[in-house]
Amino acid sequence: MKSLEDILPEIVEIRRELHRNPEISFKEFSTTNLIEETLDSWGLKFTRFKNLQTGGYCEIGEGEVIAFRSDIDALPITEDSSHEICSEISGVMHACGHDFHTSIGLGLLKYFSENKNELQNKLRVIFQPAEEAAPGGAELLVKENILENVKSIFAIHVDPTLEVGKFNIVEGPVQASSTSIQIEFNGPGGHTSKPSETVDLINVAAFYVTQIQSFIQQKIDSRETIAFAFGTISGGSTHNIIPQNILLRGTLRTHNNNVLNKCLTLMKTFTNSFADLHKIKIDLQFPTNCPATINNSELTKKFIDFMKSEGNSEKLILDSKPSMGADDFAFYGLYVPSLYLQVGAKGSGTLHSKDLVLNENLIQPSLKTTIGFIKNL
Ligand SMILES: [Zn+2]
Ligand SMILES: [Zn+2]
Repeated sequence: MKSLEDILPEIVEIRRELHRNPEISFKEFSTTNLIEETLDSWGLKFTRFKNLQTGGYCEIGEGEVIAFRSDIDALPITEDSSHEICSEISGVMHACGHDFHTSIGLGLLKYFSENKNELQNKLRVIFQPAEEAAPGGAELLVKENILENVKSIFAIHVDPTLEVGKFNIVEGPVQASSTSIQIEFNGPGGHTSKPSETVDLINVAAFYVTQIQSFIQQKIDSRETIAFAFGTISGGSTHNIIPQNILLRGTLRTHNNNVLNKCLTLMKTFTNSFADLHKIKIDLQFPTNCPATINNSELTKKFIDFMKSEGNSEKLILDSKPSMGADDFAFYGLYVPSLYLQVGAKGSGTLHSKDLVLNENLIQPSLKTTIGFIKNL
């Protein structure tokens, strides 16, 4: 038997090692090796995924499965070199705190391997590659049957705006969906002196941009959140040729997966009618589509009750709004009850920036709380 305090120094050291050696999505080779070697040294079995080159999972205990998702990838960002614990890989940085998520996943396994009698269920820690990619790792792991026998799954995400030791929990939607949209307009093209003899594709595309946004807005309940915007528009080569091709790219975000599906159907309907009206071809694609992350109400209540029972009500933030960011953790929640918690990590900088420095002291309260919660599930 070992206490949390006994194992903490090793977990902190692992976090530092991970931070110095970040790897981008689907390339987490040395990270995966580090996880495997660490588990090996603790006498625990690491299982790799069949069809992925990185990531894997580890299980302890018997019975129904409580799963914990640790994402393991970093971002293509060059870290500010003044940071005390700093990336040693040029152009890559753990700028979303997944080094913490990975070390906390390992910490849970270490703790429960030393205290097996405290575990009522089987614990499966999933070391998921490529959370930052789209499409990301979660969707692929679902196909690898990672949710087999899972009765609930949860994950934490560091929050640099929240004091260390605090936990933010949102009931219902916690992260937005994110769908990328690609629309290609194809027309006959022609001379700008005779737009009436062809289709003035730039005019038509401009009309499409404004019309589709208001069409969607009019058809969706105004109490629902939608962020629908275009990021690029390209086409044409010079001032006196009407182009044959225009490409638009954008994203749609919602907090409700039914609304998401309705929006996608509306876009198809609108686009087909619009193409008919203007006698052009429009190819509408959704290259990536990540659903919204919805916290299960029963698990949310269990977490709140757990915090209260531990006398930690004041550490719980309950009134925050859901984020417009997305996390592919959402895919697990489509199949099993899921819970996504944000943990206080206040240091400096923001997520996905070179300035981010998270407070290492978050490891202790995060592990203490997740260990306690797993015992209560
Ligand atoms: Zn991120
Ligand atoms: Zn992240």
